[in-house]
Amino acid sequence: DAAMYTAKEQSSEAAVLYSEGLLEVTSSRRYLGRRVPAAVAGGEFELQYQPQSSLRSSAVVGWEALVRWRHPVLGLLAPDAFIPIAEANGTIVELGTWVLRHACHDAAQWQEPARIAVNVSAAQLVDADFVPTVARALADSGLEPHRLELEITESTLIAHRRDVIEKFAAIQAMGALIALDDFGSGFSSLDTLLAFNFDRVKIDRSVLQSSLQPLRTRNVLRAILALGHALTASVLVEGVETEQQRDLLRTEGFDEIQGFLTGAPGIGPKLRAMLPA
Ligand code: C2E
Ligand code: MG
Ligand code: MG
Ligand code: MG
Repeated sequence: DAAMYTAKEQSSEAAVLYSEGLLEVTSSRRYLGRRVPAAVAGGEFELQYQPQSSLRSSAVVGWEALVRWRHPVLGLLAPDAFIPIAEANGTIVELGTWVLRHACHDAAQWQEPARIAVNVSAAQLVDADFVPTVARALADSGLEPHRLELEITESTLIAHRRDVIEKFAAIQAMGALIALDDFGSGFSSLDTLLAFNFDRVKIDRSVLQSSLQPLRTRNVLRAILALGHALTASVLVEGVETEQQRDLLRTEGFDEIQGFLTGAPGIGPKLRAMLPA
């Protein structure tokens, strides 16, 4: 989408704010960060959904919720343009709760019983109210807990380890699932995989698209798959763009794929037919 701003473009630009006929230009970072709560209340955020497909059946088995900000002046903003800012100033907790509740509500209206995957930031996870927030999102939407998956990146897991292990256990006891997101980018320690009980490991697209020789990339993928399966997690590869990549991953025995080949983020599944009044 040509209207989308990347983080780099965004941070180097000033945001334009119309105020009673006056044109104000303010630092876009501070401006955007401060506006998150009002934008949540004003309905400026929306979710797109990207399919996650089984390699065995080719069926869509889940959808990842990816948040966008339809800013009244700046246009459609990608998460890179505002998630880091919202994480830095703490407003991510409010935004993340909106994402979680909205995603559960949407998924409960779908015609198909696919999973809904929701990204969770560190500040949400360490918030004292996180587990009750998840429980309320499930109860209020009526979504079956096994259809909800929370995606957590490894950098999120480095602090507050004991607290997070207990929260994961509480969420899994409700029946919801926990996925490790972006594995293979950044930290990727064996320690993290061993310390936490993940239902799924999502391999970062940088692994698939790495500049290693194809044979070496294939060997690395094979090793990560064996590791994930040894830990009884399902293994999904992100960023699959070509049929050759899909065929290789299927041959190697990966469980699921997500990427432009099987679908870019979009409107998601069909909704249940509305009942006549
Ligand atoms: P992620 O969770 O790893 O999500 C996958 C990102 O990869 C998405 O970018 C998606 O559009 C992109 N992608 C998917 N398939 C392909 C592909 O085949 N090729 C390429 N090159 N890219 C692909 P998006 O939507 O811009 O989201 C970026 C990141 O923003 C997400 O990475 C996630 O970390 C974060 N994010 C998105 N929504 C939320 C949210 O509600 N809460 C939090 N905390 N973070 C979010
Ligand atoms: Mg994710
Ligand atoms: Mg990811
Ligand atoms: Mg497991």
